[in-house]
Amino acid sequence: MTMTQTAPITQDVLTIPRKMPEGPMNLVGLTREQMREVLIAHGTPEKQAKMRVGQIWQWIYGWGVRDFAEMTNLSKAFRAELAESFVIAIPEVVSKQVSEDGTRKYLVRIAGGHEVEVVYIPEETRGTLCISSQVGCTLTCSFCHTGTQKLVRNLTAGEIIGQVMMARDDLNEWPEPGAPKDETRLLSNIVLMGMGEPLYNFENVRDAMKIAMDPEGIQLSRRRITLSTSGVVPEIARTAQEIGCQLAISFHATTDEVRDRLVPINKKWNLEVLLEALRSYPKVSNSERITFEYVMLKGVNDSDADAHRLVRLIEGIPAKINLIPFNEWPGAPYERSSNNRIRAFADIIYNAGYASPIRTPRGEDIMAACGQLKSATERARKSRREIEADAGLGG
Ligand code: SAH
Ligand code: SF4
Repeated sequence: MTMTQTAPITQDVLTIPRKMPEGPMNLVGLTREQMREVLIAHGTPEKQAKMRVGQIWQWIYGWGVRDFAEMTNLSKAFRAELAESFVIAIPEVVSKQVSEDGTRKYLVRIAGGHEVEVVYIPEETRGTLCISSQVGCTLTCSFCHTGTQKLVRNLTAGEIIGQVMMARDDLNEWPEPGAPKDETRLLSNIVLMGMGEPLYNFENVRDAMKIAMDPEGIQLSRRRITLSTSGVVPEIARTAQEIGCQLAISFHATTDEVRDRLVPINKKWNLEVLLEALRSYPKVSNSERITFEYVMLKGVNDSDADAHRLVRLIEGIPAKINLIPFNEWPGAPYERSSNNRIRAFADIIYNAGYASPIRTPRGEDIMAACGQLKSATERARKSRREIEADAGLGG
């Protein structure tokens, strides 16, 4: 007998006002409240719904289980019902490259056949996953390779948290059900620094990060999640209030004239307006300090005068300045500042009392470094096109 023949038309279904989605619905990416609502809509008694959400949540986000049949604290009948209406689905890994330095770059496929990149960066005391929030980016920062790729679409909350789940699968670090909490984590930090502008996809990013921070699931502290924005000012206050994670800002210049050229969103929200929004961030979000990202471009933004101006601009903001040596990409209109220049710049900032770490480019051999995420996708696409062309059309 087929499912359709056996599925009973219950009174619940008939009395539910909500429109039922067609086909099985993915539970990944729903907030607790949304999951509660869909369970109720599928017949779970309201009184039980919260508890059921808690149980399912722990299986999905605590233990990494994808098969309802394994959720042994639920009745067999309920598990079967869940399997009929829902799936637990995450993006599919298309390819994985491992750099000489241990950095892993994944190309993952999301609905519609689009692809985004996810990078895992192991360090001695932590492991950081750099995730994407959009396919491409609508902004056109002139030094960024992703910015030359047109936006295809926003990722859903499920596709965003799904990148974290995919990486935990690959690192094989889902705890066994019932195991005591393990404090050592291969994947201990998340940065929203992959493809896309996270604050142009606010709700989905927020919901996904809420799932990452939930104490009964993936359990990452909000202090271990950093959202990087090019400066979408109206959403900065919302990030403080509704997510409360760490904030990184793609600052990159100390005058409006230069920032207009490097980060064109500056024409909409200039340095003054941006700095005002940043000043209130730490208090509202109760986070320690803001990371100022500053890409070092030879002869463009890397002078001593820039360093002194930077210090003056951020006065009074608890800050750390992350200096990023420019990562070159084919056709890029900039060059990386020399190591001596970067060090001299860092010293000025350090002497003014700010931490000024110079970011070591990771995974360069596999084009996984900041701002390089695009070419590999296009390469992969191209090679597949070529393969198809070779196979089908014969030149
Ligand atoms: N859209 C967001 C997050 C993604 S970019 C933002 O702009 O903040 C993550 C960081 O990489 C940003 O600070 C960005 O400015 C930086 N970046 C982009 N291209 C780069 C390049 N070619 N070399 C070094 N850093 C780059
Ligand atoms: Fe988009 Fe960020 Fe690249 Fe600018 S730096 S184009 S905002 S991804």
